[in-house]
Amino acid sequence: MTLKYCQGPLCHTYDTKDRKRGPKGNKTNQTRRRSSFYYLGNNACSIQCERDWFDKFGEQALNHFGRITQPIVLQENNAWRKRYRWGYGNSEDRHIFYNMLTNEERTITEQQYNDRNYTLNSS
Ligand SMILES: [Zn+2]
Repeated sequence: MTLKYCQGPLCHTYDTKDRKRGPKGNKTNQTRRRSSFYYLGNNACSIQCERDWFDKFGEQALNHFGRITQPIVLQENNAWRKRYRWGYGNSEDRHIFYNMLTNEERTITEQQYNDRNYTLNSS
């Protein structure tokens, strides 16, 4: 398993036992290194490190990837959501697409339901 470093820019400044490295009497605090992380999309070791990252880079990231400058509008063509109906007839009928605006329902297969890329949304 590959180890990677926490991307929190201040990770090394938090004083915990597991961050200490080096010989006795000459220990330094180092950035945490693990095979997986729970924060910042598997890139930060703690909520604090996630926040530190955003404080330092969030503004730049928003500017880089483009800001929302107008409201994004939910319309019929992008209002389809998958739903699972508990205790409903045979299994085919349990999986549906539901339109949040029109309340229309369309039955889909379990396979389509589980397919993350399958959508009725056209934009
Ligand atoms: Zn960290």
